Amino acid sequence: MIELRSATEIDEMRAAGRFVADVLTELATHVRTGVNLLELDRVAHDMIRARGATSCYIDYHPTFGAMPFGKVLCTSVNDAVLHGLPYDYRLRDGDNVSLDFAAEVDGWVADSAITCFAGKGRPEDVGMLRVGERALAAGIAAAVPGNRIGDISAAIGELINAAGYPVNTSFGGHGVGRTMHEMPDVPNWGKAGRGPVLRAGMVIAIEPWFLAGSGEIEFDPDGWTIRSADHTRGVHVEHTIAVTADGPIILTERSKPKPAG
Ligand code: MG
Repeated sequence: MIELRSATEIDEMRAAGRFVADVLTELATHVRTGVNLLELDRVAHDMIRARGATSCYIDYHPTFGAMPFGKVLCTSVNDAVLHGLPYDYRLRDGDNVSLDFAAEVDGWVADSAITCFAGKGRPEDVGMLRVGERALAAGIAAAVPGNRIGDISAAIGELINAAGYPVNTSFGGHGVGRTMHEMPDVPNWGKAGRGPVLRAGMVIAIEPWFLAGSGEIEFDPDGWTIRSADHTRGVHVEHTIAVTADGPIILTERSKPKPAG
């Protein structure tokens, strides 16, 4: 069942969205050559504690994970693209790192992801990120009442394809509310005009991700970190948005731009 949130509830959800956005904004300033992934996780952990928020990840244990996630942040570096489990690794110049973060504040969840670079990003990675951001924007623009989920999926998938990248349909967006994963699924590939009708009050995470190569993926032995099978790099960006009669509201919009470099 797809939950519809009242205007008051969507207002309440803004606190979670702002917190998740603030954490990612802060983390982006820490991404630089030499920083350890475990330090990034600790920064996020400290901010959760200071805010009185709850991590959606630390106890998360779906069937594909060998154990609960155990960290509060996904850090996917280079050929890793989703669900990257932070480990003792210091970022190197030019590393491409996606940070995916979800937390609960005052009973509501928000979920968002960014991709950034340690030092100067490789031109091909920077180009891929631009495509990802355009795909995210196109998906969000399609999130209006009367459209269908397939309109979001088609907008994302066609833009990624047109830029020359395949779309892997294994993981995609999802409803967000009292928990991190609710109905409906929001795939990154689909047919316009198909799927559930979008209604005012639906809150969904839209999260395009793709790889530079074949798009085939592999799981690390722990079941968590997802890598490209051909070791090409990937991009992942995500916002939690509310569908409203006045257009989509980006609950996880970041107010401060990431500093260059
Ligand atoms: Mg996420």
